[in-house]
Amino acid sequence: MDYVIDCEKVSKSYGNISALRDVSLKIEKGSFLAIFGPNGAGKTTLLKILSNLVKPTSGVVKINGMSLHDEDGEIRKNIGVVSHNSFLYNNLTPYENLEFYGKMYDVPNLEKRIADVIDEVGLTARMHDPVRTFSRGMMQRLSIARVLMPDPSIIYLDEPYTGLDQHAAMKLRDILKNLKKGDRTIIMITHNIERGLEVCTHVAIQVMGKIAYMEEIEKVDRDNFESKYFNTVGEGHY
Ligand code: ADP
Repeated sequence: MDYVIDCEKVSKSYGNISALRDVSLKIEKGSFLAIFGPNGAGKTTLLKILSNLVKPTSGVVKINGMSLHDEDGEIRKNIGVVSHNSFLYNNLTPYENLEFYGKMYDVPNLEKRIADVIDEVGLTARMHDPVRTFSRGMMQRLSIARVLMPDPSIIYLDEPYTGLDQHAAMKLRDILKNLKKGDRTIIMITHNIERGLEVCTHVAIQVMGKIAYMEEIEKVDRDNFESKYFNTVGEGHY
C-alpha cells in the first residue's frame, strides 16, 4: 500500500519536554483524518513536523514516498496549512490578498483561480472589501481560500473552529466537506468532536505525545465517541 503520508517512529523533544513520542502514522490518499486530544498532547507539533516547519528529534516522515526532510521545497509547495496565523493583509481586499499569494506560487490563470477559490469559500460578494472589516468566520474562510490558491494535494487545519459562532461554524463545515473532493488528503486538529466526526474518514486521539487510538470512521460508534473512546484513552488506558 502506498501512503501519501508515512511517518515512522517520529519523536520531538523541546529540552526535557517530550512533545512527540515514537509516532508512526500512515495515511492513505484521499483520507480526512480528524485528530482529537487534550492540550499539550503534541498535536500542533505533529502538524508542524508533517509540514516540515519543525524537524523531528528522531524518526522519518515521507510524503508521497519522499523523505520530507531531504526535499528541496517541492513537496512543501503541495501542502497547505491553515493555522492560527491567517497570513492575510488586513488593509488589502480578498482579491488583493489572493493575487499576492497566487503570484508567489506562480498560479496559472490567476484571475479565474481567484474567482473560483473565493466562490468556494462563499466570499464573492465581499471580494473587494478590506479584510479588516471581516468577521472571524470570514477571515477563517479567506485563509482557506489563500491555502487553496496553488491547489495543494495535502491540507492541514489546526483548530479551524476556534472562535467561530454557530453560523460561522456551519459555513466552515460545508467548506470542509467540499475540500475533500478528489484525491486531496486532509488532517484536521480540533477540540470540536461533533464537527470533527461529521467530516472525517478516519479519527485519531493523541495523548501525551502518542497516537493512542486511530480508526476508520465507519468502525467508530460516533454517538458514544466521547465516553467510549475519548474519555477512556484520555485517562491513560493505552
Ligand atoms: P497540542 O497542540 O496538542 O496542544 P503542542 O504540540 O502545542 O500540543 O505542544 C506539545 C508540548 O510541547 C507541550 O508541552 C508544549 O508546551 C511543548 N512545546 C510545543 N512547542 C514548543 C516550543 N517551541 N518550545 C518548547 N516547548 C514546546
